[in-house]
This record gives sequence, C-alpha cells and structure tokens, in this order.
Amino acid sequence: MDDARSSPEIGLGLQAFTRPPGAPVLPRIARGDGIWLIDTDGNHYLDASSGPVASNLGHGHPRILAAMEAQARQAVFAYPSQFESAANLEFAERLGRLAGPGLDRAFIVSGGSEAVESAIKFARQHAVIAGQASRWKVIGRQPGYHGNTLGALAVSGDEHAHEIFGAMMRAVPRVPAPLSYRLPPNHTVESHARACAAALEEAILREGPETVLAFIMEPVGGLATGALVAPASYYEAVRQICTRHGVKLIFDEVMSGAGRTGRFLAADHWPAARPDIAVVAKGLSAGYAPLGAMLASAEMVRMVAEAGGFMHGFTYNAHVMGCAIGAAVLREVEEADLIGNAARMGALLRQRLEALAMRNPLVGDIRGLGLLLALELVSDQHSRAMIPLQKVAPARVQQIAMRHGLALYCRRTSRGAYGDWLMLSPPLIITADEVDILAGRLGAVLDEYAA
Ligand code: PMP
Repeated sequence: MDDARSSPEIGLGLQAFTRPPGAPVLPRIARGDGIWLIDTDGNHYLDASSGPVASNLGHGHPRILAAMEAQARQAVFAYPSQFESAANLEFAERLGRLAGPGLDRAFIVSGGSEAVESAIKFARQHAVIAGQASRWKVIGRQPGYHGNTLGALAVSGDEHAHEIFGAMMRAVPRVPAPLSYRLPPNHTVESHARACAAALEEAILREGPETVLAFIMEPVGGLATGALVAPASYYEAVRQICTRHGVKLIFDEVMSGAGRTGRFLAADHWPAARPDIAVVAKGLSAGYAPLGAMLASAEMVRMVAEAGGFMHGFTYNAHVMGCAIGAAVLREVEEADLIGNAARMGALLRQRLEALAMRNPLVGDIRGLGLLLALELVSDQHSRAMIPLQKVAPARVQQIAMRHGLALYCRRTSRGAYGDWLMLSPPLIITADEVDILAGRLGAVLDEYAA
C-alpha cells in the first residue's frame, strides 16, 4: 500500500464522508478476480468476508459479467408499473422456487434496509385488510440489526444508535436474543434460549397481543451478534408463540439468505419454524447490483392485491439490470452447487479455525452455520474475558490483516457490550486450497496481534 498517498478531502466520496482525521489510508481497489481483490499497487487481498457478507460469487465472475453486458445492450431500466421485463420474471421465478412454499412471492427492492421496511409495511397493511388494525407493534431483539433507515433501525437492538436516533422513532419492545458463548449466570445454552423465548411471550402479553403485529429476528445473527445460532428448540418455540398470539414471524435473512449457511434460506434448517415473511439481500446479487427482496406467501400477496395493492414502492423496484443480475446469480448458485459448497467449505473452515483456537489464546468462540462464521476475540480463553475497551482490538486486527493480504470484516459491538469478533464469510465459490490459504494468513495475523 502506498502510505504516501494522501487521504481524499473530507466530503469526497462515501469513504471519506466523515472518516475521522488520522484514520488509515485505505488501499484503492483496481480489480477483483475470484476470491481476490487487487489494489492499484498490485497487492492481492483474500476476501475473507465477501465484503459485508455480500460477494457470494467472488469478483469478476465471467458469467455474471456476460449477463450484465447482455442485459445492458437490451434495457437497463423500465418502470415496473409501465413495463414487464423478462429479467424480472426470471428472477422472481427462480427466487420463489428456491425460497419454497409460503415464501414464494417476491417484492424486489434495492437492498436490505428497504426489504425490511417493505416487510414491516406489508405485514401492517395485510393486518389492516384482515381486520386487525390495532396491531402495529414490531418486537425486535437485543442485540440485533435490521438496517439503517429509521423503520429498520427502530426494530434493531443497538443501544448506541437508539441513544442518538431513538427520539425520532416510535419505541418498540425488544427481547433478548439468546447468546451461546457468554451466558448469564447459572444458565446452559438451552435454558438461556428457553428463557429468551419465554421473554418474547411475556412481552407480547405485556403489550397486549391485539397490538402486536410482528416479531423480527435474524435466524443466524450477523454483525450484531457475530453469527449467533440458537438451539433448534428456540426457533420452534418462537414460531409457536407467534402462531399462538397471531403475531407474524419475520426472518431477516439479509446476511444468512441466498445459500450462505448451506441452505438457500437459513430458515430451511428449521422446517418447523417457517416464518411468515423473510427478507433477503446482499448475496442475492453477490454484490454485482444493489438488490434485495421481501418474500411472502401467495395467499398474503393475493389478499393485499385484491384490496388494491401494496401501498408502498420505490423508483428502483424490480430494476431491470438488478433483476438480470439476480437471475444470473441464482442460476450460478444452482448450477455450480454453491449451496452445497457453502456447507462443505464451511465445515472445513470451521475445522481450521478450531485448530487456530488451540494454539492462539486470543481466540475465544467459533460459531455460525455454513460459510457464515465468526471468530470471537477474547483477552483470556478460560475466563472468556472481553478485550478491554481502550484496546483497539478489531481495528488493529483488520490493519494487520491488510498487511498480510487478508481483507477482514471486524466488529466491536456497541461500546463493547457484547464482545469483539471477525466475520469469516468468504465467497461461496471458495475451494479447499483457498480455505487453507485463508486460515494460514489468519493464523499469522492473530500471532502478530498476540505478540
Ligand atoms: N439486516 C441485516 C441482518 C444486515 O446484516 C443488514 C446489513 N448489514 C441489513 C439488514 C441492512 O441491509 P442494507 O445495508 O443492504 O440496507
């Protein structure tokens, strides 16, 4: 990296918009090739996280580039209330088939936050049409993350963001997300998960079930919890509680969907806990376009259509180019068996990370599903003590990693309340040899950090 290069002026470009003075100069991207990102100085970085868990097919994928070019020569944009597009139809058909019964109708948007907003408004409009206008509250989880628009943030469990923006949003109840590593005293993973499910039912009863519209959760946590997975009994209990009280269950699969966990939706791991609505984004376009979708049942969609249609929309709903890319991505996911590869390479990467934990005392927990994995950093493996807040743990690990040619996605939770972790979520195209390179470099990074 050329450290002599000056930082862009404040306000120039997204990266520099409010970057704190003195923040490190980032390498400048030149091109991508498979799981590698290459900067303008020719340095290669292994993409260990798919950016923010988006680049599921890696970079410069020839078949996606060909689909983009072909679509660009035909039509890039046509407004969906004026024209139908073959790209939209193919994408919606593939997505519906992969998502499966009950989630096979797609409302197509430009990203995760928009998909979450759409899910909340769709659930609400459906309830009003069904004669349940008193239901408006959406219960979320603490910690949890569903996006940065005001509606999506309102249902996210992030205390720090709520201190600043909470006054602008209608308060919604939040219930604890079950943790698996640092448990409350006298709890096992199972008993804690049971207590968390019970807290959901208590919250619904306290609020008055006739006022509660939906419960939203990430089936496999993202950045807010570091790839947290609960015992199967938790998902089943949550489903039963929602059904019992007429509350819609929304799974936020922005990170976990599109094949990442070794199933198309993470929900597919728990067939007895099928959500009423799911949202997907990120890997859905593998980073080749801004794209997201809200998925619901044909029956719910029919009710809203017959009542006059969904009172919600964006300029770039079902964007033609976005849909063509989404269709090409889903075609590739199926034809190259990338869902199976996510399961196989996820198991291998997990083994390699567990071996790292044996020899590096700063590696605490390793958790996740398929290729949605996280490695929690601790200051002591035995006591599971977090790294003290004044130590700039994740930022420093990320910087060291860049020098080792490894692009990492690191997280320090809201004021360090829940811990520090690295997301290990490489593109689903990764091979066994590349998993070994990733693990080797990560080992060197953690050794240097520990030294
Ligand atoms: N939900 C989850 C679980 C996410 O991880 C994210 C993005 N990190 C979002 C919603 C918001 O998606 P976007 O950034 O595309 O708006």
